[in-house]
Amino acid sequence: MTRPGMRSCPKCEVGIEGEWARCPLCGAITEGASADSPLPTVSLRFSRRRLLRVLFLTSLVVILASFGLQLIFRRGADVGVLRSIWLGVAAMWLVVVMAVRKRRNIAKGTVYLVVLAGLVCAYWDYLTGWHRWSLTYVVPIVCGFAIIALLIAVRMMRMEVGDYTVYTGLTVLLGLVPILFLVFGWVTNPIASAICIGVSGLALIVQILTQRREMGHELVKRLRL
Ligand SMILES: [Zn+2]
Repeated sequence: MTRPGMRSCPKCEVGIEGEWARCPLCGAITEGASADSPLPTVSLRFSRRRLLRVLFLTSLVVILASFGLQLIFRRGADVGVLRSIWLGVAAMWLVVVMAVRKRRNIAKGTVYLVVLAGLVCAYWDYLTGWHRWSLTYVVPIVCGFAIIALLIAVRMMRMEVGDYTVYTGLTVLLGLVPILFLVFGWVTNPIASAICIGVSGLALIVQILTQRREMGHELVKRLRL
């Protein structure tokens, strides 16, 4: 697969077209001179920094918008959803920070985070007359953002094949919570729960596809040894 005048990966033993300094498959430093690709250059590089920057700016906008709207709809009935969004965004960032700092047990940390946010808000809800905004909005929204954060964390970390099972299991678990809430009729409005279930389903599909590709790559590497 390698030909002269082409970069190659010493680990995967594959030729790489274009000017990749690192192997797009395994991240090892490539060897050889880059060849001019017959195709126009399209940047395929997955920029972790750019992703984080976009995510950060989006989060700021979302949080400011949720606070602004709370001011406008102060007397409206469903402020719960606005009250929950910034919590969800904050939870997502905590999970991403755990991943960036390479803390172990991101799965366990995520569960603690969701449970803690849920309990604190349920108590707050209880003290202010039990309008169930905590169950209707906070828990599903925090679960949804946690699922998105896990997906980002999985993309950013180099993981063993076995670790994927833990994250896939957690995605299923976080998706089950709103399903239970809907089944037991604990929510006053099903939209947040439904969105969370949808997010969980999509995340599951993405995870399974990524996992299969990684496993295939692993298999190819082993067969070559
Ligand atoms: Zn490689």
